[in-house]
Amino acid sequence: MKKRSVYAAIIGGGAAGLMCAIRAAENHPEQTIVILEKADRVGKKILVTGNGRCNLSHIGADAKSYHGDGSDMLINILFKKYHPDAVLSYFHALGLLTHTDSENRVYPLSNQASSVLDVLRMRIAQLPIDTICNTDIRRIQKTAEGYEIMTPELKLCAKKLVVAAGGKADYAGRDNDSRELLRSLGLSMTKLSPSLSPVKVKSELLKSLKGIRASAKVTLIRDKKIIKTERGEVQFTENALSGICIFNLSRHANSGGCEIHLNLLPDFTDEQVEQEITNRFKRSSKATCGELFTGMFHKNIGLALLKSSGIKPSALCKDISNKEIRTLCRHITDWRFVCEETRDFKKAQVTAGGVRLSEIDPYTFESNRHRGLYLIGEVLDIDGDCGGYNLQFAFASGMCAGDHL
Ligand SMILES: Cc1cc2nc3c(=O)[nH]c(=O)nc-3n(C[C@H](O)[C@H](O)[C@H](O)COP(=O)(O)OP(=O)(O)OC[C@H]3O[C@@H](n4cnc5c(N)ncnc54)[C@H](O)[C@@H]3O)c2cc1C
Repeated sequence: MKKRSVYAAIIGGGAAGLMCAIRAAENHPEQTIVILEKADRVGKKILVTGNGRCNLSHIGADAKSYHGDGSDMLINILFKKYHPDAVLSYFHALGLLTHTDSENRVYPLSNQASSVLDVLRMRIAQLPIDTICNTDIRRIQKTAEGYEIMTPELKLCAKKLVVAAGGKADYAGRDNDSRELLRSLGLSMTKLSPSLSPVKVKSELLKSLKGIRASAKVTLIRDKKIIKTERGEVQFTENALSGICIFNLSRHANSGGCEIHLNLLPDFTDEQVEQEITNRFKRSSKATCGELFTGMFHKNIGLALLKSSGIKPSALCKDISNKEIRTLCRHITDWRFVCEETRDFKKAQVTAGGVRLSEIDPYTFESNRHRGLYLIGEVLDIDGDCGGYNLQFAFASGMCAGDHL
């Protein structure tokens, strides 16, 4: 077996690992950096982000949009220097032009995720960085000089080691589980769970709502307590609620006893809703209830609301009692769906949980346990909301560790 010594080895050629390699090589042009990637190419996940457009950052991102024990402190320290503007101006220097939408989400000007990967790969080609793909690293040995990494063909000795192996959430249905690798280094981890995913709910109504979208205020309730509220577009699927606002609740919706409440008229007061619906009943007194929501909601949403309220669509509006009208109004502003356990990492964009943040120095991302070991990106117990926060963290942590290697 061949033996090779390098300055730094980076396990994982995703957003964090690629950025880290570039910064480290720029700081140490006389040294060699090696990226070890399990897939056949680096950066494949970047290509599928943001529906192929790659929402690479979020202007004004701060600690409020990140979760994980100790994430506040870490983000406050990291974003002092590696804030979204700093990450974007570095991308600009690499040749990437970007645009920012009305919600502060940043995309490449080309609207193609491949532009982000291309500028990273172009820079890598100019620097002393070697990329070894199709290499799944399972074990690492700590030595007096640094770290020994075994690949099927190579024993790689590295002074510095960066673990940028990502989380368990995987778009391609692979088993991306680095826990064994991380435990072999004695690192302590929190439980992993899927985040930014659709939330499975129990409801007979979903079949008729599949594919429909509705604007709503969405509240996650557990044991009668409000856990989180979001506003946005809810997408109904065959067995789940989806959409960005649901994604942002999903990390809290995994355990039992949770309900999602939809308010389909969040800008109306309860009185205004009752007034609107009562007027509709009066106006359509000769029509059937199935026609009540014409011009207001998607037809199938109207029918599902009637069904939830125990009102037959074929009933005439004039025959509906005030009590039934009040029940219907309650369903419009507080339509409840019982959550089921969501454990599907294949549908999640991000993994919640990972290596405890107390394991690393927040100024450098170096392990507190092992000198010369760095942990960056999604492998850590930190996950962001939907909207460019996760890639912003991956790139910023990669830059920070790369500057300190
Ligand atoms: C469908 C989808 C859409 C998304 N859209 C967005 C978005 O628009 N904006 C946003 O901010 N975030 C988005 N995310 C989340 C974002 O992609 C991740 O948070 C980010 O890529 C994490 O970067 P990372 O480098 O830490 O990990 P990853 O990008 O997962 O990279 C880890 C790399 O390590 C490799 N690897 C793992 N284990 C080993 C091993 N043992 N040996 C060798 N290599 C290994 C993997 O193959 C992978 O290439 C999306 C995620 C998904 C799944």
